[in-house]
Amino acid sequence: MTTKIFKIDPQNIDRRALAEAAELLRAGGLVAFPTETVYGLGGDATDARAAEKIYAAKGRPSDNPLIIHVATPEDAEGYAVTSETYYKLAKAFMPGPLTVILPKKDTVPSTVTGGLDTVAVRCPSHPIARGLIEAAGVAIAAPSANLSGSPSPSRGEHVKRDLSGRIDGIIDGGDCEIGLESTIVKLDGAHATLLRPGAITADALSCVCESVSVAPAVTEALAENERPLSPGMKYRHYAPKAPLVLLAGDGDEVLSFLFRAQNAEKCTILCYSEETEYLRGERLIDVGRREDLTTQAKTLFSALRQADDLDGDIIYAHLPPTEGLGLALYNRLIRAAAHTVLHVTADQTPS
Ligand code: AMP
Ligand code: MG
Repeated sequence: MTTKIFKIDPQNIDRRALAEAAELLRAGGLVAFPTETVYGLGGDATDARAAEKIYAAKGRPSDNPLIIHVATPEDAEGYAVTSETYYKLAKAFMPGPLTVILPKKDTVPSTVTGGLDTVAVRCPSHPIARGLIEAAGVAIAAPSANLSGSPSPSRGEHVKRDLSGRIDGIIDGGDCEIGLESTIVKLDGAHATLLRPGAITADALSCVCESVSVAPAVTEALAENERPLSPGMKYRHYAPKAPLVLLAGDGDEVLSFLFRAQNAEKCTILCYSEETEYLRGERLIDVGRREDLTTQAKTLFSALRQADDLDGDIIYAHLPPTEGLGLALYNRLIRAAAHTVLHVTADQTPS
């Protein structure tokens, strides 16, 4: 299959190109498009065949449901049973990087929801995403536009690399602003359970919801045979090819561990900007300053892909904090590392 590439400037949208991409969607085809979080792989959310094609193009297990994207929060009415808390969240955070799980209506085929009777709804703020949904005139089901298991795509080039030849179109609209996938919450009256942390933090949610709890699988490994609250929690995710080890401990001790590691083994290091002057430049990836979690979020998936290209035997990264946006970084990294954390002590030698 040839994949049509649409290069669209989000600041000056070519409406004709967008209409052409929307036409592919209306005809049952698949089009990848940028959002403020990561790139999505879109298909008509009311078309079971399109959902099947999405699972096939990504190599994604079909019990891992898709998020449906709507142009306005009210458009959720056509696909889901909304609630007072949904509209409170919508008022505070939509359009934006928040996904809400709601009871589904029959307009959404069960193929889209992986057989569940709930559906994940999101209203993205990215002008290309919104324009595309409006032009398509229907909700767009879209998981992240990467091959299943690999890091999510935060740049057009990531999508091209993973999906060229597998889908009908790719809209390249530059880099995604946030770089991590949306926050996902499930509502139970005015209580919200955080299923996936993202740029809308637990603190921000608790300003709107009566109470917020964090699903254990956000930070912990699932026990064998445990049934997760969100099917996606059980799958291997974001994993680079080389083993990734997360380092915890005192900043100076971790830095001196990394210094020794560069002499002892062929390692790739995701380091803070402040550390670059103390480490050798070979296989070194600067993810942003220690306190700058926003930049680290934006850089993370690119950094994991770059780490693959650098072809080290092992990858080291810092274990993020679990507060604020740190929780989203922690959740992605801990899964990319298959929960491997090394607590660094003063004179620990690299493996
Ligand atoms: P992705 O599309 O790659 O961002 O992944 C979407 C995530 O949303 C996956 O982890 C899914 O398991 C989760 N998800 C989608 N629909 C539902 C649902 N109805 N209930 C719980 N989680 C869901
Ligand atoms: Mg994904």
